[in-house]
Amino acid sequence: STPAAVLSAISAGGRQGVLFKGGEHIETAGTVDAIAFDKTGTLTEGNTRLTDVNARDRLSTDGGLVADELLEDGSLTDDRLLTVAAAVQSRSEHHLAEATVEAAAECDLETPVATEFEAVVGKGVHATVQGRTIHIGNPRYVETVLDDRPIDGLADGLEAVRDLESAGKTSVLVVSETDERRCVLGWLAFTDTIRPDAAEMIDNLRERGIDQIVMLTGDNERVARYIADELGIDEVYAELLPEEKVTHIERMQERHEAVAMVGDGVNDAPALATADISVGMGGAGTDVALETADIVLMSDKLDRLPYAFALSRETSRTLY
Ligand code: ADP
Ligand code: MG
Repeated sequence: STPAAVLSAISAGGRQGVLFKGGEHIETAGTVDAIAFDKTGTLTEGNTRLTDVNARDRLSTDGGLVADELLEDGSLTDDRLLTVAAAVQSRSEHHLAEATVEAAAECDLETPVATEFEAVVGKGVHATVQGRTIHIGNPRYVETVLDDRPIDGLADGLEAVRDLESAGKTSVLVVSETDERRCVLGWLAFTDTIRPDAAEMIDNLRERGIDQIVMLTGDNERVARYIADELGIDEVYAELLPEEKVTHIERMQERHEAVAMVGDGVNDAPALATADISVGMGGAGTDVALETADIVLMSDKLDRLPYAFALSRETSRTLY
């Protein structure tokens, strides 16, 4: 039977918005000495917003190349770029997609229909819009999915994306493809708010003797580094696919007693399942992450995480 101390810890946790999905997790959580955090939606609020829309012909000298029948009057405008991007992204549930569709709606843009939608995990998406393929993705998407034919305006696009990333903005290129050619239409950039209590939580965990704290993210290296610097996390692994997050958890497990993973998304589910203790973010987390989690933080208050570990440690001590 479950010891009284464990039952009382479960109910104390519940009052503080920490849901332990079973007494056995309290024992394990009491021994956690390494923690991996997802970035988007975990250390940040996950309220991704579109901040920059840049149609290429405004910026490049060979803008004439961009003009084609996609464009109403032969010139590509920012609104036109956003319209085409939103058409594709209306088929995706990714947070960048939702932010794109939202921005188009806010500008009262009417989006055409997109067909043959396909997503490439961790890289981007494409679909057919008005007779051409529209690709939206990061530089890795371009390097892997679009590496077999040249792309007009690629150098400009990559340079712009790199600059935006260095400023902490997640950025994607929009590429148009017909039988004749591929060409960069422009780029979009996004930001997400760092949770106001995230830096304090990281400090707190470190003070409590957690000796390895890492960030694992699918996002770009430069963006990840920017956010990690703001939070005082020095170990960052970026541009990870879901299975690569698993590999990092396993590597941490070789050197630690118990590794916790904190995440909110579908792409965190395999890593959450691998960690000794998985923590789901209840406020905005996806169902998959919450189902996989051993501990759920019912509110978005990050101070509940060090609390959960401290409560677990104290409770375990009374048992032996
Ligand atoms: P994260 O949750 O950190 O964004 P993902 O693995 O979901 O991690 O995505 C990693 C990267 O893949 C994104 O930063 C983006 O560059 C690209 N990507 C994924 N989905 C989309 C999409 N729908 N539209 C554009 N880019 C995408
Ligand atoms: Mg996330």
